[in-house]
Amino acid sequence: MKRKVLVVADLRANQLRNVSLEALGGANTLADGGEVAAVVIGHGVSSLVQPLSEHGANHVYVIDHADLAQYVPDAYEAAVSQAIEAFDPQVVLFAHSAIGRDVAPALAAKHKAGQVSDIIHVELAGDDMLFTRPIYAGKAFAKVKASGHVVFATIRPNNLPMPEQTSEQADVVNIDYAAPANLRTKVREVLKKASSGVDLSEAKIIVSGGRGVKSADGFKPLYELAEVLGAAVGASRGACDAGYCDYSMQIGQTGKVVTPDLYIACGISGAIQHLAGMSNSKIIVAINKDPEAPIFKVADYGIVGDLFDVVPALSSEARKVLA
Ligand code: FAD
Repeated sequence: MKRKVLVVADLRANQLRNVSLEALGGANTLADGGEVAAVVIGHGVSSLVQPLSEHGANHVYVIDHADLAQYVPDAYEAAVSQAIEAFDPQVVLFAHSAIGRDVAPALAAKHKAGQVSDIIHVELAGDDMLFTRPIYAGKAFAKVKASGHVVFATIRPNNLPMPEQTSEQADVVNIDYAAPANLRTKVREVLKKASSGVDLSEAKIIVSGGRGVKSADGFKPLYELAEVLGAAVGASRGACDAGYCDYSMQIGQTGKVVTPDLYIACGISGAIQHLAGMSNSKIIVAINKDPEAPIFKVADYGIVGDLFDVVPALSSEARKVLA
């Protein structure tokens, strides 16, 4: 059954996050030969049309306005609603990001539509759309059948395959942003936290430290390994609670959920709340000096040893291989 599917592009510092392109792949599956559109919302974002166009969007809506330079829920909701009105889709896909998680359910409620969150796979079964999502902290997967006129869904980064790049050109439609009359929030200033540069939730490789790193300085060898591998650095809540690193690095049930190709856990015991955030990583390497540590139960490769010996050794070997 042909459908119209709208992807709401997810931006970070005015750059497209990969999950937007991955969502376009999912959108093409769900469209079943119908039409796929993307909407890009922000200020100074017209250069983002091209990658969306080259990755499967038939139409790209651009809503570019100074008031949209920073994320403000009411304003963003209004802008997405304008794109929905213009395209009239049956399915609207967001990234399962801070913005997507905020806006998608609000808009789904407004449209009296269904909402499916944290999708890792989409498929068709006849006329039905099936969405797969992890449940019970990643221990099981539910297949959700979605019906109804409009369905909203959020896509977990790093899971749907990114469509091949083509030379196709989408038709581009500029929409004049109509600000809501009762805008309740205004961003006056944004204070950025220092970060390693690699976006944790989209990183292909993550080097993660736990209480076993013993201090903020103990993260240094992890940062060195991350630099060699082009990885992001994450942490367990144990390490965050101990003050060794910032909470923005926390991975787990109450932190970020990640699905990298390679997750290297250093000095992390493997508590269930930590596993909830990383157990769906494609390859897990655990470094722990306790051979009985539960992290080894989910690890593909386990190294029993002191992380302060193992991690520098890995960095130096990786340097040789990647040089
Ligand atoms: P520990 O459990 O103390 O483990 C440290 C490990 O380091 C040990 O296995 C030890 O053998 C090893 N080690 C020590 N020194 C070395 C060395 N030199 N070399 C190698 N290995 C060494 N936790 C999260 O991570 N994320 C969450 O989102 C999260 N949410 C939670 C939500 C709730 C409601 C609750 C109750 C808990 C939550 N937790 C979360 C906490 C979780 O239960 C654990 O306490 C936490 O994950 C433990 O962190 P850790 O593995 O770093 O520390």
